[in-house]
Amino acid sequence: LNKPKIVVLGAGYAGLTTTKRLIQKLSPEQAEIVLVNKHNYHYEATWLHEVAAGTITPNDARVMISDVINPNKARLIYDSVVEIKKDEKRVVLENSEITYDYLVVALGWKSNDFGIKGMAENAFAIEDIDSSRLISEHIEYQFAKFNSDEQAEDDSLNILIGGAGFTGIEFVGELAEKVPALCKKYDIDRSKVRIINVEAAPSILPMFDKDLVDYAKKSLEDRGVEIKIGAAISECTPEGFIVGEDNELIKAGTVVWTGGVKGSPVLGDSGFELTKGKVNVDSDLRMPGEENIFVIGDCSWVWNKEADRPYPPTAQLAMQEADVVAANLEALLTNQPLKDFVFDDKGTVASLGQSDGIGSIFSNYKLSGKRAAVMKKVVDNRSLYLMGGVKLVLKKGKMRPF
Ligand code: FAD
Repeated sequence: LNKPKIVVLGAGYAGLTTTKRLIQKLSPEQAEIVLVNKHNYHYEATWLHEVAAGTITPNDARVMISDVINPNKARLIYDSVVEIKKDEKRVVLENSEITYDYLVVALGWKSNDFGIKGMAENAFAIEDIDSSRLISEHIEYQFAKFNSDEQAEDDSLNILIGGAGFTGIEFVGELAEKVPALCKKYDIDRSKVRIINVEAAPSILPMFDKDLVDYAKKSLEDRGVEIKIGAAISECTPEGFIVGEDNELIKAGTVVWTGGVKGSPVLGDSGFELTKGKVNVDSDLRMPGEENIFVIGDCSWVWNKEADRPYPPTAQLAMQEADVVAANLEALLTNQPLKDFVFDDKGTVASLGQSDGIGSIFSNYKLSGKRAAVMKKVVDNRSLYLMGGVKLVLKKGKMRPF
């Protein structure tokens, strides 16, 4: 009767995979498993730039949790986590609370504007289904309004994106495909629309080698994207960004910040010790000094001993951490030694729209163009497969040719 209770917070890549693996590993007599998530659906966070550009629908990017996790095998609670009271082994939710014996914190990330003045108030951010849908609806509204509103300003069709990392560039790539379609739909000349990407660093996509970066930059510029590198944003006003040493104001009707992420605010609100907004976990992925709390995904700061820096936060890392946490929870319940986490890097592929991309896979095998776009769809479908098997791939998989 007194079986231990394992509570998993968050049903993103990390939390959903952990829950799935726990159900596979543990018998119902061994532990009670509880999954808490804000919504009754999981979303593919790595597809949110497509939702934000309107190249896929919000429903394409989300999966009902009960389609992936059998509610008879894990208790599903749809509520928001407010605070973790670790000394009392208790989690405060918006509408109730829950106690635990073992806790897995997998609450993901939030946009980080690094305190740039006006950014939080005046720019959109790609954070979840709702915020991404808002961006695509806002862009479409600017187009719908343009010819019917004599007051509409010329700059209103401009789309301004801060940050040229993974999210920024993948979003810009989708926009390069979406904008011509919107121009056609609303009888607007393509030359009236600017897509402007602003980045403070000297290069876009710092995680890729120079030849792939050059390919990506040329592909985007050939499709009318303006890329401004080495241009720091000092302020975001209701009209746009103030950029560079000469304080140039770049105006736009749609302004989106994609320049950084930080761990869930629940970590700080719970009084946890943080490194750059995340929990610097031990090699077995536990919170230092806590035997029964694991922290994974974008809430965790995991040190890469070989490279002497933290692993970049990715879905790939989150899902691999989930496998180790499920194994370590089983080990704790059966008095076995815990495993250390070792990341197996399968490479990275970035899309530049639905039919173009760049990638570096299997220890630096490089690819670009349609081959990379196909590989991106393979990666996206693989993540569905790992969470929901063939059934989920058939239901939500990216099968369309381009
Ligand atoms: P999440 O996936 O964010 O899941 C967190 C879950 O917790 C969500 O379900 C959320 O609703 C829930 N939640 C949050 N707060 C609360 C709360 N207070 N109470 C209850 N529930 C809550 N990574 C790659 O590996 N490859 C890529 O190609 C790639 N592309 C990306 C493209 C974009 C546009 C973006 C935005 C990210 C991309 N990433 C990519 C990064 C990747 O998405 C993240 O690293 C990944 O989502 C982290 O997984 P997670 O499980 O920690 O968090």
